[in-house]
Amino acid sequence: MHCESHSDNSQTEAIAKLISDYPEIVSANAPLNELTTFKIGGPAKLLASVTNPDNAKMFLQFANEHALPAVCIGGGSNLIIDDKGFNGIVLKMDIDLFEVSGSTVTVGSGMVFDTLIAKTLDSGLTGLEFASGIPGSCGGAVIGNAGCFGHEISEFVKSVTVMNGLGEIQVIDKNGMQFSYRDSVLKNNPLVLLSIELLLEEGDLEQACQTRKDKIELRRVKHPVEAPCAGSYFKNLEPEIPGERRRAAGELLDKAGALEMSVGGASVYRKHANIIINSGNATCADVLQLADKMQQAVKDKFGVQLIPEVRHLEWNGGNLVINS
Ligand SMILES: Cc1cc2nc3c(=O)[nH]c(=O)nc-3n(C[C@H](O)[C@H](O)[C@H](O)COP(=O)(O)OP(=O)(O)OC[C@H]3O[C@@H](n4cnc5c(N)ncnc54)[C@H](O)[C@@H]3O)c2cc1C
Repeated sequence: MHCESHSDNSQTEAIAKLISDYPEIVSANAPLNELTTFKIGGPAKLLASVTNPDNAKMFLQFANEHALPAVCIGGGSNLIIDDKGFNGIVLKMDIDLFEVSGSTVTVGSGMVFDTLIAKTLDSGLTGLEFASGIPGSCGGAVIGNAGCFGHEISEFVKSVTVMNGLGEIQVIDKNGMQFSYRDSVLKNNPLVLLSIELLLEEGDLEQACQTRKDKIELRRVKHPVEAPCAGSYFKNLEPEIPGERRRAAGELLDKAGALEMSVGGASVYRKHANIIINSGNATCADVLQLADKMQQAVKDKFGVQLIPEVRHLEWNGGNLVINS
């Protein structure tokens, strides 16, 4: 028989009170699979929608007081969530502020990145159109320095506003963000990204709208539409000569026979060896095992260690709580 300890009891009571105080934005035992593009993962102990800095602070304080792990998610398009789910509080970033002043745009981290691109073009500002069709939120795009076709979001970032686990707000400028390929200082720091200030251009709007159309069409042809996925699973490789283009991980995976691989409900997308698809009730364990197999095949054939781009959110993971 399981006996709940005193602290289990007080946590359960506190959770019940939080839900009754904020029924519209907090839920318990909340399925996370539908919040990811992989459509995989168990429930979160608590799921809270963050719509402004004040409720971000309140949820962080709650997590700290009750020793609950906490983590942010945006569009869930770069995540594989554990089959057991997440043993803490997931902060779903829903801050969707949008303000334009001259060529400077301030955007909430929860706005869908592609919506931002459309809105900036509607406001007569160009620059971001290269990224049209990248799924996920603005926060996720900035944290992972999303990019494609030779450009990255970092080219347009002026500064970001973040909150630490104690609820304190700070501004980090572009240099402080230490952007590099699919990386920034925020990737492994316990900070909630609240909003982003971008410096855009007043370029050729007609050309930019055409580029947007072309990129969306290109993605429609290149990426799986028939099955859920999280985009490229592994990062591309460092260039052999500095300054040259990165070598595509998909090329090595293809040569190592990955296109034929599958584990359970997870398989490699037949048109792109660096994409794992959920081809039918895949579990997180299936995906991780398949990724190991792909990584091993490339290691055996080329002696190269591929590094996952997709992040695994573990049952007891989370990175925002200071005292847990
Ligand atoms: C079909 C497809 C195509 C893709 N094409 C590309 C591409 O061309 N280029 C590219 O770079 N990526 C691509 N991706 C990957 C993905 O879309 C990007 O990495 C995206 O920017 C992730 O944003 P997200 O909001 O979904 O992040 P999530 O998956 O929700 O989160 C990613 C990480 O950021 C953290 N995080 C998210 N928001 C916050 C926040 N506000 N504060 C603190 N931490 C936060 C999470 O904890 C997690 O660690 C593709 C994915 C798919 C499915």
